[in-house]
Amino acid sequence: MVVPTAIPKSRPVRPCISCVIPAYNESAHLSAFLRDLQLTLRTFAASYEIIVVNDGSTDQTEQAMAPHLSEEGIRYIALSRNFGKEAALSAGIDYARGDAVILMDADYQHPLELLPEMARLWLDGYDMIYGVIADRSDESKLKRWGTGAFYHLMETGAPINIPRNAGDFRLMDRSVVDALRKLPERNRFMKGLYAWVGFKSIALPFVPHERKSGVSHFNMRGLSRLALAGVTAFTTLPLRIWSAFGAFISIIALLYAFWIIGESLFIGNDVPGWSTLAAGLMLFSGIQLISIGILGEYMGRIYEEVKRRPLYLIEHDIDNGTITPATTM
Ligand code: UDP
Ligand code: MG
Repeated sequence: MVVPTAIPKSRPVRPCISCVIPAYNESAHLSAFLRDLQLTLRTFAASYEIIVVNDGSTDQTEQAMAPHLSEEGIRYIALSRNFGKEAALSAGIDYARGDAVILMDADYQHPLELLPEMARLWLDGYDMIYGVIADRSDESKLKRWGTGAFYHLMETGAPINIPRNAGDFRLMDRSVVDALRKLPERNRFMKGLYAWVGFKSIALPFVPHERKSGVSHFNMRGLSRLALAGVTAFTTLPLRIWSAFGAFISIIALLYAFWIIGESLFIGNDVPGWSTLAAGLMLFSGIQLISIGILGEYMGRIYEEVKRRPLYLIEHDIDNGTITPATTM
């Protein structure tokens, strides 16, 4: 019997690596980060481009970028306002021209030392090399519990397997990037989309560094919003759980109805029962409101999709020192 071997992937002889860096108020360390990134890329990439996506920063990001704008291999895309990290990443991915695209945060948390290893795995034939946070012990109990619940819901309800603790830090082959760009949805929960497109992927564990300066832009509220976007984009499990819960309550109510009918017929009932009624009414109004809320959450997403607004708007795009007129996607 002939054992089928994997089809070898052909990679370009002189590949160009694109690095997409979403930056929102990172001016304190952006310039130093770009220098370090350039030094790292020069050690292993034949050619590269660094795409800094300014996601509507309100700090000195423009000034920090100024000395870099005329440098070769630097592209600067300024969005017209803060659209959020997912949209900034989408913008960078849309404009990247490399054979492989690396997504990386601007705050030094994603180790630069890992990039050569990522590139090597890509040359070995992997299409997506994604960083997985190896140690989350420094995070709060509440955050870890929330993350655990989120992944549990996704694993049970979503037809795809979203790797636990994988973030946006990754290298993607051009084929993966093209596939991502074909996905039409507005609700871009990137972690889900990376998993949805598939391709030959491998995890690379890493321990994130400390943020160079400033604080994370994702507080508990932001993370909950992101988790909700992920759940509604990838699974209808909450709707199904609620249907099952509704069916369960209906059965209990029916049994109880039989019980009181029987009681009235055979024993006689002289208790008015208003307290049971009042409690039941309050309970079921609450349950109905929650159901409407869950339905509304999905409906709201449909509304967002049908409006077909652009994911982001570009104020200006400076490529190797040349300003290109503002375009929209
Ligand atoms: N970021 C962005 N837009 C936002 C929030 C964050 O482009 O609205 C960028 C930010 O500048 C950084 C990356 O996304 O490069 C990750 O953000 P952060 O470090 O705040 O998040 P965390 O590391 O806590 O996940
Ligand atoms: Mg960070």
